[in-house]
Amino acid sequence: MKEIENLKKKILKEYPRLNKDSKFKFRCHPGVSCFNDCCGDVNIFLTPYDIIRLKNRLGITSGEFLSKYTIAPFDRNLKYPVVMLKMEDDERKSCPLVSKDGCTVYEDRPWACRMYPLGLASPTEGNEEVTDDFYFLLEEDVCKGFKEDREISVSEWIEDQGIAEYDEIGRLFQEIALHPALQGDQGLSEKKIEMFFMVCYNIDAFKKFVFESSFLDKFDVDTATQEKIKNDDVELMKFGFNWLRFALFGEKTMQIKQAAAEAVQAEIKRKTELEKKLGIDKKKNK
Ligand code: SF4
Ligand code: SF4
Repeated sequence: MKEIENLKKKILKEYPRLNKDSKFKFRCHPGVSCFNDCCGDVNIFLTPYDIIRLKNRLGITSGEFLSKYTIAPFDRNLKYPVVMLKMEDDERKSCPLVSKDGCTVYEDRPWACRMYPLGLASPTEGNEEVTDDFYFLLEEDVCKGFKEDREISVSEWIEDQGIAEYDEIGRLFQEIALHPALQGDQGLSEKKIEMFFMVCYNIDAFKKFVFESSFLDKFDVDTATQEKIKNDDVELMKFGFNWLRFALFGEKTMQIKQAAAEAVQAEIKRKTELEKKLGIDKKKNK
């Protein structure tokens, strides 16, 4: 992770800042001499939407996807859990999703793979040096795509790679991940980290939690929404983001059922009375 932090600092200080109209020379195709060379020994952070696309593409559950294809590196400097593609243990440290013919999940490849060779820096990452989003070029020595004779603008590249759809959902995730409540030194409790991880990365576990626990006894979720989130992982993820806002940051994004609210109040009252009684008993025993 230190290596990634150093690269971030270098990007902020030294890399030319591009906007959507900026142009660069690049083309990638199976005929390049470096074909597939970038699909190994690489740090690919996965977004919640990446995982939904990939696990559905592979026809497996999010839990199976996470255990087979990813690692979740722990770093105490991180404000929230992250998930990365786990490279193979071979000489090239190959991506588990590459074949000799290229990416086996090309239509559903992650955001970071779509973006390459572009990167995006944003002011919301606690970088005082960044006041507006900017793009930059990651010119790896191994990549011969920069020698190809095609000029393309940043916005054309974004359009060409189908990035807009990823960005739209990515923005909702960023509102959680970069929430001001997470920016202090305190960090999330273990329980809250588990909640974050489940909603953002293990969507099938979240679905089980919603439909197979007492969740729907506590929260007022209308039938149409229940139907929608049962059948659509992206809708379920958006619903999960609202629940995280409620559970992690105390925002009023979920409606608690009357009976559940009364039960919570009764429990608070019971605890307060018990604490009072214990206080009195302690005094008596002194
Ligand atoms: S997911 Fe596909 S494009 Fe991305 S590194 Fe793996 S093989 Fe390459
Ligand atoms: S190294 Fe560059 S040109 Fe070569 S396959 Fe990867 S992205 Fe394409």
